[in-house]
Amino acid sequence: MTTALDAIAARVAAVRDEITASALRAGRDPSSVRLVAVSKTHPAECVRAAYAAGQRDFGENYVQELVAKREALADLADLRWHVIGNLQRNKARAVAGFAAMVHTVDDAALAAELDRRASAVGRALDVLVQVNVAGESQKSGCAPDALGAVLAAVRGCASLRVRGLMTVPPLGEPAEASRPVFARLRALRDAHGGAEALPELSMGMSHDLDAAVAEGATLVRVGTAIFGARG
Ligand SMILES: *Cc1c(COP(=O)(O)O)cnc(C)c1O
Repeated sequence: MTTALDAIAARVAAVRDEITASALRAGRDPSSVRLVAVSKTHPAECVRAAYAAGQRDFGENYVQELVAKREALADLADLRWHVIGNLQRNKARAVAGFAAMVHTVDDAALAAELDRRASAVGRALDVLVQVNVAGESQKSGCAPDALGAVLAAVRGCASLRVRGLMTVPPLGEPAEASRPVFARLRALRDAHGGAEALPELSMGMSHDLDAAVAEGATLVRVGTAIFGARG
């Protein structure tokens, strides 16, 4: 169930505390981990409540829902929208003009379309390449073997800035199962130019953010722990 509006501020603070504790345990600067609050399926009022608590980065999976929420919250000028769901090429235009970051670029064709749409509105768009680390058949994300080619394609797009990598571990597994997946994403980053070329690692959700921070996450995508369960 969606968290009551007046409880959202406390939930945001609790997740921030959890990130800080995880970072300190890992010997990392807590400010090197950014919280992306995943608001999919929860109403715009919930986003507004988290915003009032100081949260600025929000993630959405579905373009139609994202566009509607963005309109409802247009008065919050410094709110940053992250696209974290599988993005179809014919939806690139709808997000290229305003997204702070697209986490889910996984092939050259999607990169080219985002580039075309971002260039048409004269902006540079930050993107991450999503990697299907665990090799699940039905999952989006490029295969680890294809990462070099996808990165080369994205780097060839004048209006895209590749900032790093993103992954989603197999769903329904305990947090301990996520850790090797996160370690693998970091190893892939190190094999493809390291932190200088790819500073961002988007990994970790409500149940496994501690493991993600331990493995170097710079963006954690947290929904349930802030907004409650989704219908
Ligand atoms: C829904 C979603 C999240 C948030 O998951 P929670 O378990 O609710 O924290 C993070 N990342 C992606 C890609 C998602 O689809």
